[in-house]
Amino acid sequence: MTIGKIGVVGAGTMGNGITQAFAVAGQDVIMMDVGQSQIQRGLDTISASLERLVKKDKMSAEEKAAAMARIATATSSSALADCDLVIEAATENLELKLKIFADLDRVMKSEAILASNTSSISITKLAAATSRPDRVIGMHFFNPVPMMALVELIRGLQTSDRTYAAVEAVAKVIGKTPVQIKNSPGFVVNRMLCPMINEAIFALGEGLATAAEIDEAMKLGCNHPIGPLALGDLIGLDVELAVMQVLFEGFKDPKYRPAPLLVEMVEAGYLGRKTGKGFYDYGQ
Ligand code: NAD
Repeated sequence: MTIGKIGVVGAGTMGNGITQAFAVAGQDVIMMDVGQSQIQRGLDTISASLERLVKKDKMSAEEKAAAMARIATATSSSALADCDLVIEAATENLELKLKIFADLDRVMKSEAILASNTSSISITKLAAATSRPDRVIGMHFFNPVPMMALVELIRGLQTSDRTYAAVEAVAKVIGKTPVQIKNSPGFVVNRMLCPMINEAIFALGEGLATAAEIDEAMKLGCNHPIGPLALGDLIGLDVELAVMQVLFEGFKDPKYRPAPLLVEMVEAGYLGRKTGKGFYDYGQ
């Protein structure tokens, strides 16, 4: 099947990045969130991101305007009724996602594909909450979406070859490199990346070194472009905690237990860049 109309649920960190990637690739896209303020914040982020490209001469002002014009917005899922593919990128919470999937399943045409950008939730479980489990798939983008090449395509137990092929083609159209992965807690990248960030938080909590020292050590010692604590702030510490909880519960292995300091940071509302404070201060 060919995918024409695309919808994105959620205008946050990932939702606006995914929307931007489609709009820049010449694809019309509808970005949906619960309220106008969330939509506006998403649009402002996309506009600022494209403006940086214009300033660096990587995009013309006309191209930016054309990309912005390809983005429609909505505050109700009914606006997504005739999409061929909807990518859900709402808050990482199982109950919420099950509700969104049931809702999308009700409003969207029967042949349409439902994808989730979840970092860790079982695609098989989300698929089972719909009447079209063979047309449900994981489409896991990486942050920041416009810059990161990878998309993990997660096959639930029920995902059909036809669904996989259609979504793989779409991923390539927007210039991403898809990797096919079987459904499993944390998939592949987060199963390794999130425990590394969690371990850095243990080290910080145990007073081994400061956040800046831990990050510097990992950058220089492992050649990582960004330290694990700065990366946790970029991803969002609530997302990091949610992934660790899914790994811990999914494998029942204590090696995945969330660091106490991570739990406390989330309790305090220090979620990283998006709240202006995490392991570093971002001054908002
Ligand atoms: P975020 O908190 O920045 O944004 C979530 C958005 O979802 C918010 O704007 C919120 O208003 C919206 N939302 C909540 N309920 C909704 C509903 N019922 N309908 C429509 N929108 C709703 O979160 P994020 O970091 O963008 O994460 C979104 C998803 O992407 C999560 O599943 C997360 O695990 C996944 N993810 C995140 C990252 C990352 O680095 N942040 C990377 C890959 C995947």
